[in-house]
Amino acid sequence: MSKQLIVIGGGAAGFFCAINAARMDRSLNVIIIEKSSKLLSKVKVSGGGRCNVTHACFDIAEMSKRYPRGHHFVKKAFHQFFTTDTIKWFEERGVKLKTENDGRMFPVTDSSQTVINCLVQEANKLGVEIIMNREVKNLSMVNGQWAIKLSDSRLLSADFVCVASGGYPKSSMFDWLKELGHTIEEPVPSLFTFNLPNHPITKLMGVSVEKTKVKIQNSKLEEVGPLLITHWGLSGPAVLRLSAWGATELKIKNYELRININWLPDHNEEIVRKKFQELRNISASQKVINKNSFGLPSRLWEFLAEQSGIKNEWRWADLPAAFQHKFIKNLCSYECEVKGKTTFKEEFVTAGGIKLNEIDANTMMSKKIANLFFAGEVLDVDGITGGFNFQHAWTSGWVAAKAIAKNSVNNNK
Ligand SMILES: Cc1cc2nc3c(=O)[nH]c(=O)nc-3n(C[C@H](O)[C@H](O)[C@H](O)COP(=O)(O)OP(=O)(O)OC[C@H]3O[C@@H](n4cnc5c(N)ncnc54)[C@H](O)[C@@H]3O)c2cc1C
Repeated sequence: MSKQLIVIGGGAAGFFCAINAARMDRSLNVIIIEKSSKLLSKVKVSGGGRCNVTHACFDIAEMSKRYPRGHHFVKKAFHQFFTTDTIKWFEERGVKLKTENDGRMFPVTDSSQTVINCLVQEANKLGVEIIMNREVKNLSMVNGQWAIKLSDSRLLSADFVCVASGGYPKSSMFDWLKELGHTIEEPVPSLFTFNLPNHPITKLMGVSVEKTKVKIQNSKLEEVGPLLITHWGLSGPAVLRLSAWGATELKIKNYELRININWLPDHNEEIVRKKFQELRNISASQKVINKNSFGLPSRLWEFLAEQSGIKNEWRWADLPAAFQHKFIKNLCSYECEVKGKTTFKEEFVTAGGIKLNEIDANTMMSKKIANLFFAGEVLDVDGITGGFNFQHAWTSGWVAAKAIAKNSVNNNK
């Protein structure tokens, strides 16, 4: 008698688990149950419609450092299925990936539809059944078989279940999984931008600085990276990474914090002071506002000068010491107040989910209940922006598939 696997969730992790399990054990019946009317909807919108499939990082230890939650867990799993395997897997099925300067990898078509077509075709080819518009309401074990109750009251049975239901924003949405005896790490948003309501810096919307250091006061959190000024506040990789690493801490602070921005992180304050002295000597007759020798965007230089009280007509020779001091402070440690957050639409994830100490990273199987597997964002794993979240979905989906196929074959013997 052939065994049956039911995968809950038709997203990246669910599809990857279903396809690979069906491929590894051709006698396995595989069904994906998706509550909505759309399959792979996050893949579709991801990476601005291009799908940032993975990240060009080929060192497991390095790669796992990009996961604020779950880095030890993913590190173990990456030994079984890593970025190199993702690239190969998709390429073997006609989806060639390319790498951008920042390491993000996209299909060469620049269209997420290519990834969707590949996954759906593969599922069809392997005979994976897909049930849509049905939500799994409850899971229970009856005489060694899983009983899966759907929203239309239908009852399905299975030998193996893989929960790939994605992240939920509210703890109560995990109730059906808590009923199984699993514990949840409280969900909190990750990957968001900072709001600076009515702050004058927002006049500079669109200005970006290639390298800054952003530090959160009264916290260990700091990040070096590009910063983008928006009409509502601050965005860009430095802020997004802070939001990921600080997801829990910033929620506790109710997203009200003071930050310091170093616009010149490659120079310490002492070097900047020396450079100012040089400018006073060499450019004595030039206007301070015009002589931006640090390569900052000129609108930002003018803004920081203005914030330091420097008048447009002041020349380097007559720059008063107190104003110079204030300007250097603003260049090396500009302080502003953050009040609130805005979801980063390009890629947002929920931190939190099924506690990792209850899952075996080598199989993705529950340590509490046999033949119950988990994959993707439902687990308490999340990465920073750049393709890390999808890599976790592919890896955990594949690892679960392998363990399910192995258990299924052993059971058939
Ligand atoms: C706008 C956006 C852009 C993103 N861009 C990127 C990117 O470029 N690169 C990257 O690495 N990450 C990106 N991410 C994050 C990435 O999309 C997710 O981490 C990834 O999709 C998680 O996959 P998953 O299969 O675990 O969950 P999901 O994709 O959320 O899929 C879970 C599925 O399960 C279904 N489901 C839930 N509960 C039930 C139930 N009880 N019964 C039946 N079905 C159920 C849901 O409807 C859903 O379809 C982005 C996220 C967003 C929101």
